[in-house]
Amino acid sequence: MGRQDGRVALVTGGARGIGYAIGERLLAEGASVALLDLDPVEAEAAATRMQAARADGSSGTVIGVGADVSRAGDVSAAVERVVDELGGLHVAVNNAGVLRDNLLFRMSEDDWDLVVDVHLKGSFLVAREVQKQFVAQRLGRIVNVSSVSAWGNRGQANYSAAKMGIQGLTRTLAIELGGYGVTVNAVAPGFVATDMTDATAARLGLDVAEFRRLNAEATVVKRMGAPADIAAAVAFLASDEASFVTGQTLVVDGGLKLVG
Ligand code: NAP
Repeated sequence: MGRQDGRVALVTGGARGIGYAIGERLLAEGASVALLDLDPVEAEAAATRMQAARADGSSGTVIGVGADVSRAGDVSAAVERVVDELGGLHVAVNNAGVLRDNLLFRMSEDDWDLVVDVHLKGSFLVAREVQKQFVAQRLGRIVNVSSVSAWGNRGQANYSAAKMGIQGLTRTLAIELGGYGVTVNAVAPGFVATDMTDATAARLGLDVAEFRRLNAEATVVKRMGAPADIAAAVAFLASDEASFVTGQTLVVDGGLKLVG
């Protein structure tokens, strides 16, 4: 028996990277999974790949859903589709993300708006939509993806503000929804090797392998994070075992913030 048997999970930004690993993990724990991503073709391709690769014994279905989390109409249509096609909704993971790093004097208004809209407004819009279902059934789990950059990171004023905003959103939604069987938590990953961090290496003019080595060296555990490390923490917060944990941000960074 899996921790998510009979449940349905929606993972935004699920076509790749950390979101894909979260989807895989929840599927392995018994959930049916909707991978929501900006490009519908990518979302569907990821769902087909995940369904084909799933472990024997997991019984859930995987679907891909194209939607822009920063647009209210897209979000409500996507949630409606998930409930219709997968027969319900119990877990929502706000993971979709984008970077537009720049020092303050070079940061355009568009760079600010895009990053804040995708991370922070997107998390708000998805939470507002899924709570209808969660409150009515007196059961739900919302897990938001913040970052250690929330505590400040040079060149990431937009991203840092959005990621710390997500922590405030998490605490407030936990207060509002706790009485309805709904918990709201966040994870704050440190460095995790994905397309996003590879793009950062390229932007800084660094070799990807060297960038990964430097980031691994900066942790206490002396390794870089894998998407599965973040997925394991999300899976706990999405489970019944975490029903007494709410409003928290769990830092998953190999100890980076202890010494950084
Ligand atoms: P990733 O590989 O770039 O994946 C992010 C996914 O989100 C992409 O598939 C992207 O689609 C999708 N997305 C972007 N804008 C969207 C929108 N408006 N609506 C729906 N989907 C959208 O990134 P990742 O490294 O897995 O990061 C996942 C999350 O973890 C992000 O929230 C990130 O900030 C957070 N995080 C990552 C790290 C790390 O070290 N990797 C550390 C801390 C926190 P497109 O490809 O089409 O843009």
